[in-house]
Amino acid sequence: MRLILLGGPGAGKGTQAAKLKEHYGIPHISTGEVLREARAAGTELGKKAAEYMDAGKLLPDNIILGIVSDKMDMPDMKNGFLFDGFPRTIPQAKGLDKILQEKGQALDSVVSIDVNDGIVIDRLLKRSEIEGRADDNRETIENRLKVYYEQTEPLKDYYKGCGLLKSIDGVGTVDEIFERIKAVLS
Ligand code: AMP
Repeated sequence: MRLILLGGPGAGKGTQAAKLKEHYGIPHISTGEVLREARAAGTELGKKAAEYMDAGKLLPDNIILGIVSDKMDMPDMKNGFLFDGFPRTIPQAKGLDKILQEKGQALDSVVSIDVNDGIVIDRLLKRSEIEGRADDNRETIENRLKVYYEQTEPLKDYYKGCGLLKSIDGVGTVDEIFERIKAVLS
């Protein structure tokens, strides 16, 4: 199973990705998580990432594609994977197509978790209280939503054009949403 989870900030991608990883037994790659780890470790990548993340901006496509390309070379990625938070721009999607083509692989599905903005802002402000993520303050959240609509939402049309897009309603309990995702994948 080769999957992409699409959705704006706070759509529940991370929560669902953890369940899908377990259910399908595939590795889960979150580019946001990779960047947070680099940041915590104080690496050069982490220092650069911090500036973009705190402003709610996307990192340059070449940096992200470099990270993904390295991950795709790992042996456990051979039989399937789940990306969450990647791709986020059309050039990233095209870059992924190229990486997969070179490996003779293809995506199975792209699942878009759709949630409206009001719900997302409330969810993210709550998450900031629980997890203390630096980019979950109101100003950064609003920026991340703007960036999502400008740069990431066009991916839905891109993947619709490839016949891969499956959209689900992201409002409900964690289990309800998980059932919806499994249903569109089966
Ligand atoms: P996330 O955990 O997916 O919400 O990502 C947190 C932040 O990391 C984003 O707001 C971006 O600054 C950065 N980031 C994560 N994934 C990407 C990506 N695929 N392209 C560019 N920036 C990213």
